[in-house]
Amino acid sequence: MKRYAVFGHPVLHSLSPKIHRTFGQQSGIELDYVAIECAPGDFAAALSSFAKSGGQGANVTLPHKQRAAELCNLLSNRARRAGAVNTLIRHDNGWLGDNTDGVGLVRDLTGRQGLDLRGRRTLLLGAGGAARGVAPALLEAGVGDVFVVNRDSTKADALIDQLGEPGRMHARYFDDLGTLGEFDLILNATSATRHGTLPTLPMSLVGPRTAAVDLSYGEAAIPFLAWARAAHAHTTVDGLGMLVEQAAESFFLWHGVRPDTDPVYTELQARHAALITA
Ligand code: NDP
Repeated sequence: MKRYAVFGHPVLHSLSPKIHRTFGQQSGIELDYVAIECAPGDFAAALSSFAKSGGQGANVTLPHKQRAAELCNLLSNRARRAGAVNTLIRHDNGWLGDNTDGVGLVRDLTGRQGLDLRGRRTLLLGAGGAARGVAPALLEAGVGDVFVVNRDSTKADALIDQLGEPGRMHARYFDDLGTLGEFDLILNATSATRHGTLPTLPMSLVGPRTAAVDLSYGEAAIPFLAWARAAHAHTTVDGLGMLVEQAAESFFLWHGVRPDTDPVYTELQARHAALITA
């Protein structure tokens, strides 16, 4: 049986094992997919031991995505552009790294949520692994100017330098947010609410057309989406659809089969809604 895993810290809450096992059942592909918890200093050793034990592929989640890119001897264009890897594919001499976060987000927003991203003035909160993954795909999907705000401003600058589109991307500080006007698309790609906080966000960022998207899902998405609803955002979206779509793209890279994502999304959404209201 082929072996797959998701590496992260923390990761034991991850829905990826369930999603990939369901895709496997749908497609008639037998696979073993487990969550492997490891601290940043242990990731390289854990990945090496997974490869020695026959691991064929892996997903990588926070905080290992940039380290994963360094450990690959081959990178796809989108992983190179992002400087972050969320999907590892085993080959004869090591790992090929790819990044499916961006395509996952764009498929969910333009497909399931029916949003036209073209020309949208965009605010990207965060410059960590997830922000790096989604920024190139958003630019390719035709969004307008992208303002990147991160506590550590050197990471926002590095993300913009890496993407090589200085005319379309602009680094700003959280303290500047009150002066930036309205955005058509606001993405929360910070992990702040995992630590029980939400950065202070002025309601002046939200206009009648704003779509507010939190890349996290479940309880972690509640504070940002509640802020956006209070500011009368047109649309609010959590990261569950992105999670399912990025997993489907990884599944395609490993197995050459495109799974049907809608039933998986519907089941997870119902389960999360029940947990949140319980
Ligand atoms: P990283 O650890 O790589 O980056 C975390 C980011 O959050 C950094 O930009 C960091 O800023 C910022 N941050 C953390 N705490 C705060 C705070 N209190 N205030 C402001 N900014 C803060 O994580 P990822 O980028 O991998 O993940 C970010 C989020 O995206 C997570 O919630 C994750 O679950 C979600 N995600 C969802 C996916 C999906 O498929 N739906 C896929 C990938 C991620 P700084 O650099 O200044 O520390």
